Amino acid sequence: MTTILGIPLAGRDVLMVGGGAVTARRLQRFAADGALVRIVAPALAPETRALVDGAAATWTPRAFAAGDLDGAWLVHTATGDPRIDLDVAAACERSRILCINASDGAHGSARLTAQTTSGDVAVGVVSDAGVDPGRSSRVRDAIGTLLHDGALPVRRRRRAAAGRVDLIGGGPGPADLMTVRARRLLAEADVVVADRLGPAEEILPHLDPDVLVIDVGKAPGAHPVPQDEINRLLVAHARDGRRVVRLKGGDPFVFGRGGEEVLACLAAGVPVDVVPGVTSAVSVPQAAGIPVTHRGTSAAVHIVNGQAEISATTLAAMADPAVTTVVLMGVAALPRLVAAALRAGAPAGTPVAIVESGHTPRQRTTHATLGTITEAATAAGVRNPAVIVVGDVAAAGFLYSARSWQDAATR
Ligand code: SAH
Repeated sequence: MTTILGIPLAGRDVLMVGGGAVTARRLQRFAADGALVRIVAPALAPETRALVDGAAATWTPRAFAAGDLDGAWLVHTATGDPRIDLDVAAACERSRILCINASDGAHGSARLTAQTTSGDVAVGVVSDAGVDPGRSSRVRDAIGTLLHDGALPVRRRRRAAAGRVDLIGGGPGPADLMTVRARRLLAEADVVVADRLGPAEEILPHLDPDVLVIDVGKAPGAHPVPQDEINRLLVAHARDGRRVVRLKGGDPFVFGRGGEEVLACLAAGVPVDVVPGVTSAVSVPQAAGIPVTHRGTSAAVHIVNGQAEISATTLAAMADPAVTTVVLMGVAALPRLVAAALRAGAPAGTPVAIVESGHTPRQRTTHATLGTITEAATAAGVRNPAVIVVGDVAAAGFLYSARSWQDAATR
């Protein structure tokens, strides 16, 4: 039998006997944990020397002597000579100091686990009898993958001392367009503050029943939760020691007010981080077969909020045949935007595409030109959420012929 202990080595004296590559590898692990490492070895391999030069450990350049054990909590021996390693292990045994013997096939009084960490969960794997590091690391890797994917129940059952906020980009809709990191943070969350856009519909029903879900969704026309109130919620729950995930559609920093939420957390002294997401500005055109840049056609992308004042830069972008203009939140503003573009000299024949609910089963694309899109959008009954693309890349069949490309809904 083996008892696996979790031992934080921070501030503890660890003696490493031998200066070779095995010592270097393990030293990095001990040093990362904050151990105070002393190396005793007549000579150092280059990788060990580099670590000593980087102050990860101190080095006494001579052979091991029993007095070296004084003050050590843990000893690691990897001299390359099994007899010396056995001597070190025996000296440790007499002094009741745990010793890891790295010699092939040898067992010290302690064994290192193959270890993986994800967030604040650490998992270690050892063989109970007969070392088999290859198997241990394969098992460790398999568990690591599950941990990183958020596939294991890693949510804390006990309130942590300090909470935090993570703004995560949910992408345009399908859960499998979220990042692996976002999925893991969702699996760890105590509180999820979610928007209506993005993968909320698919994700939220599968969270643990005792995760607190707060819907601050901003459906046009419905009453959205004011930004101040969202900021207040994020800070209050984190201060209560909860892991808070702010789930947003697309990318948090593209018209998502993510910056304001970060500032609110920083001002309150709450730890905060951001996980990028697949923005609709690029992925929704893509879903309709539209590349926002294309060699020889479009060399720049102008991304704009349709609800904002129409700037001179936006007008110039729409009039420039080498620029793709991508308008978010633009359905209501479409007639105004088109009229301004035509007045500013954009050719009436400039292709325009409106992609509704990209990457969802409701996806639909309307192709027209600046001269005809307002009428076409009204006729089609175009609705939010939609991305408007202006430029040659938006022409029907630009990349794929109409026959070889269909919206997700009909694929
Ligand atoms: N942070 C988001 C954008 C938020 S603003 C991102 O990076 O994607 C909201 C606007 O995004 C909507 O009005 C619409 O223009 C666009 N949008 C988001 N998801 C969409 C989708 N699946 N289909 C079409 N438009 C979408």
